[in-house]
Amino acid sequence: MAEQFDVVIIGSGPGGYVAAVRAGQLGLKTAIIEKEPGARLGGTCGLRGCIPTKALLNAAHLYQKAGEFEKFGLKTGNLSYDWPGVQKYKGDVVAKNSAGVTYLMKKNKVAVYNGFGKILGPGNVEVALADGKKETLQTKNIIIATGSVVRPIAGFEVDGKQVVNSDQILELESVPKSMIVMGSGAVGVEFASVYARFGCDTTVVELLDRIVPVEDAEVSKELARTFKKQGIKTETGIKLDKMEKSKKGVKVSGKNAKGEDVSFEAEMLLVAVGRMPYLEGLGLENTKVKVNPRGTIKVDEYCRTDEPGIFAIGDAIDTAWLAHLASKEGILVVESIAGKKVEPIKQNLVPNCTYCDPEVASVGLTEAKAKELGYDVKVGKFPFSASGKARILGETDGFVKIVAEKKYDEVLGVHIIGPHATELLAEACVGMALETTADELGRIMHAHPTVSESVMEAAEGVHDLTIHM
Ligand SMILES: Cc1cc2nc3c(=O)[nH]c(=O)nc-3n(C[C@H](O)[C@H](O)[C@H](O)COP(=O)(O)OP(=O)(O)OC[C@H]3O[C@@H](n4cnc5c(N)ncnc54)[C@H](O)[C@@H]3O)c2cc1C
Repeated sequence: MAEQFDVVIIGSGPGGYVAAVRAGQLGLKTAIIEKEPGARLGGTCGLRGCIPTKALLNAAHLYQKAGEFEKFGLKTGNLSYDWPGVQKYKGDVVAKNSAGVTYLMKKNKVAVYNGFGKILGPGNVEVALADGKKETLQTKNIIIATGSVVRPIAGFEVDGKQVVNSDQILELESVPKSMIVMGSGAVGVEFASVYARFGCDTTVVELLDRIVPVEDAEVSKELARTFKKQGIKTETGIKLDKMEKSKKGVKVSGKNAKGEDVSFEAEMLLVAVGRMPYLEGLGLENTKVKVNPRGTIKVDEYCRTDEPGIFAIGDAIDTAWLAHLASKEGILVVESIAGKKVEPIKQNLVPNCTYCDPEVASVGLTEAKAKELGYDVKVGKFPFSASGKARILGETDGFVKIVAEKKYDEVLGVHIIGPHATELLAEACVGMALETTADELGRIMHAHPTVSESVMEAAEGVHDLTIHM
């Protein structure tokens, strides 16, 4: 007889495995299906996304810091790096993280099936197991957490050598001499920050008129300025339409904003644009689940599809494609299945973090968006060049910018570029979730010396009361 479950989750990324943990905690009989060979759990985030990229970024950060030791009165011998060693460090972090997810499944009594999950119809999921056998699981609820994969871009086909995507660039055997990064979203600028710091001559090419285009315009400007200081070139407003192999490696060409022909040549091209939801072979045709024109699964604010008992979360749906959001969606779904009262996720409070150098982090509305929505806006800004702790760290580029509205003083958005921006953002998330005012944020005592004082100072800046500037 088929195994009977309360919840079957397809996919073990941060959406699926977190949902599985919470389901186990709530006493639901739960199974998770993962197709990754060797039952490596963790999904894109754990194996090919958040974790390995941040490990490489950390190694690059330490290497860069070591190169600046003299600034701190310290001495090192001849500084160099061992790329296979860097890759091993990254691989070890990924393996330990994935093993941690396996441990969590065991701890929470979640049955793990290593194979390909296919929905046969509501309540029935077939697993094509890694050993060639098939098994059918019966379940009251199904959660689709199948995530996303790299989307091929016509004309910019990858070969894994000179032209690579975000999966392939993680596995390079050596650091290329030069690289063009196509796309300046989080993935593009993060890899630019990794390889440039290991000595690769890097050029970021962006279609829109500024890099990290989802961020506040002032943040984009500051990142372009600091990239320039570091020797990373940024080219914006460029529509690339052709790629060819060249003597140097690869040549891409297109037109700039004025319509003029432009071209760039390097040893390697990283295509850092394009992902798509992964729904292949999932059996949606056996259900009433609908798919949006963008290829994502149609859900309501409780992640319910059009088929009762089938939910979808994470990169498989239309909300922002971020690990922490996938996890919160997983928790929301499982708690609703367990009969708990749940609230839709406030999409305006989803934090956005980019781990380039300097880091970029934001939550809420940009200044331009707030104005567009009709808010009467006041802005407070504090540069890290005025922060004692940032000076101690030797990381004085960037600023904290707080966008508040005049009438009630409520904070609408916080934008940080600079040291530990991705950690500093947490207080902005808490504050905004509690509908804090700029006055409150500015009055709350922050320890000295910390870079977090800059958040307090920027909040004071909303009322022109910054102390250290
Ligand atoms: C290079 C890169 C860096 C990133 N960095 C960050 C970051 O720093 N912070 C952040 O928040 N986000 C980051 N992201 C995005 C983040 O990885 C995704 O938003 C997140 O992984 C989505 O989680 P998910 O659970 O929806 O799906 P995924 O993590 O994609 O997991 C889906 C899993 O489902 C499995 N699967 C699919 N179909 C089936 C099937 N039919 N049967 C069995 N198994 C199946 C897949 O093998 C996969 O393991 C990054 C992405 C990339 C590419």
